[in-house]
Amino acid sequence: MSPRPFRLGRSLTGLGLFATRPIKKKSRIAEYRGRRLGIDAALKAEKSGNRYLYEVNSKITIDGARHGNIARYFNHSCNPNCDTFIRNKRVFIRTLRNIKPEEELTYDYGRDYLKNVIGLKNCLCSRCRKRRKKHAAELREKRARKAKRLANAAVKGKTKKSKTKKTGTKKTAKKRGGKR
Ligand SMILES: [Zn+2]
Repeated sequence: MSPRPFRLGRSLTGLGLFATRPIKKKSRIAEYRGRRLGIDAALKAEKSGNRYLYEVNSKITIDGARHGNIARYFNHSCNPNCDTFIRNKRVFIRTLRNIKPEEELTYDYGRDYLKNVIGLKNCLCSRCRKRRKKHAAELREKRARKAKRLANAAVKGKTKKSKTKKTGTKKTAKKRGGKR
């Protein structure tokens, strides 16, 4: 088997997996490995805070928290470049599109996980960050427009206040003693 096309590295949320070479669309790149738990053991693991549980079906859950399961480091994204699929009760991760080297590999953990574990407002995936950034910029603009409106209104309200503020005479910039 060829070595993994990705490496473990620092991501925004801690650790993540990053492509080390171009990967073709629909390549199977990893298996989600781990102990297989029955219903009771899975519930117990969930209650104890295990976040690396992958429900294969109603009876089998994979506990991927242990070492040796590199797939536990795939981070969640709402706009993922990978997804998971199940074959013969085993879980695999494959690429959804062509991947460039150094791209972080992600898959969508699903609405439940996002809602209950990550929290809808806490998602740090690139799509959510972009959306939040845009939203923040819009808010800033809105506030700036409002401040300007208020300032204009204040100016109009005041009687004759000289608008032209004299700027101090420009001093020629004094160069600091150059070390040459
Ligand atoms: Zn997200």
